[in-house]
Amino acid sequence: MIIAMQESASEEQIQQVIDRLVNLGFEVHRSTGARQTVLGAVGAQVEFDIRNLELLPGVQEAHRISSPYKLAGRSFRPEGTIVSLANGVKIGGGSVVVMAGPCSVESREQLFGTAEAVSKAGGRVLRGGAFKPRSSPYSFQGMGEEGLKLLREAGNKFGLLVISEVMEIAQIPVLMPYVDILQVGARNMQNFNLLRELGKLRKPVLLKRGIAATLEELLLSAEYIMAGGNYEVVLCERGIRTFETYTRNTMDISAIPIIKKLSHLPMTADPSHGTGRRDKVAPMARAAVAAGADALLIEVHCDPDKALSDGAQSLYPEQFSKLMDELRMIAPAVGRTIA
Ligand code: PEP
Ligand code: MN
Repeated sequence: MIIAMQESASEEQIQQVIDRLVNLGFEVHRSTGARQTVLGAVGAQVEFDIRNLELLPGVQEAHRISSPYKLAGRSFRPEGTIVSLANGVKIGGGSVVVMAGPCSVESREQLFGTAEAVSKAGGRVLRGGAFKPRSSPYSFQGMGEEGLKLLREAGNKFGLLVISEVMEIAQIPVLMPYVDILQVGARNMQNFNLLRELGKLRKPVLLKRGIAATLEELLLSAEYIMAGGNYEVVLCERGIRTFETYTRNTMDISAIPIIKKLSHLPMTADPSHGTGRRDKVAPMARAAVAAGADALLIEVHCDPDKALSDGAQSLYPEQFSKLMDELRMIAPAVGRTIA
């Protein structure tokens, strides 16, 4: 921790800060410049609110230099985490994994038609919500376990792995037999009870960034899962809420290289929720791969005009297939391949 004292700070005030730090167990290094004193505090493992230091008389500012997320931070595994799934699919290993499918599982016909298109175009994981977090309680809420059965069946038939969202603790045992990855949605990123339960599993979790979450908060949420012993966490940028209204959310592409620097966890981009408009999905998907994303999560529907949720942001199968061709050209330019 670095504490910069005000130019006007008295010797007594400086000593008071030093005493406080020593009491907390820190070793304090003092650097006295011509105008200002700076204190460097190292060594203590204590958890405390840094504002308590900033409030001491004579303190100008205080900054933490060690990250508050120990397990999710890059230094825990400098070489990066690779999440290994069935069928030899690996997220984080240099090739970009494309996960695609409808927003919600709606029917056998809809899901199988879409899954076939995803598989033919080169997707590796079939997405589809069976439990849906809808903004309105009157909107379609998902097919529940019936939807999960269809997902698994379609995945097996077309050689795809399966990802689906878990919204609450009680759904975990329902989802477990059917899915390869559990998705935690933006609305649940800070549902700490749910995250703790997911930490007890040995099943990969894709954790989406909340609509108003900082990247530090995203990493602290990942820390909740990892603290329970489940290190198979994949992060996901899915757009955040800003003052811009043209798009549904603002796709924060810069989150990708930032997370790759701060954390060893693989990073996914969801340009469908990130933009909310199908005409902007492909450009953002291309940008995400160029920016270093390890995976993409994309909504595709065999008949988006009839979709029960998120039709406007769902790609037509032909659009998805064209996008995959483009990604196969972009990936090598940044030293990657499409899985
Ligand atoms: C989804 O993937 O369909 C979804 C609901 O995503 P988010 O949690 O990002 O809104
Ligand atoms: Mn959706």
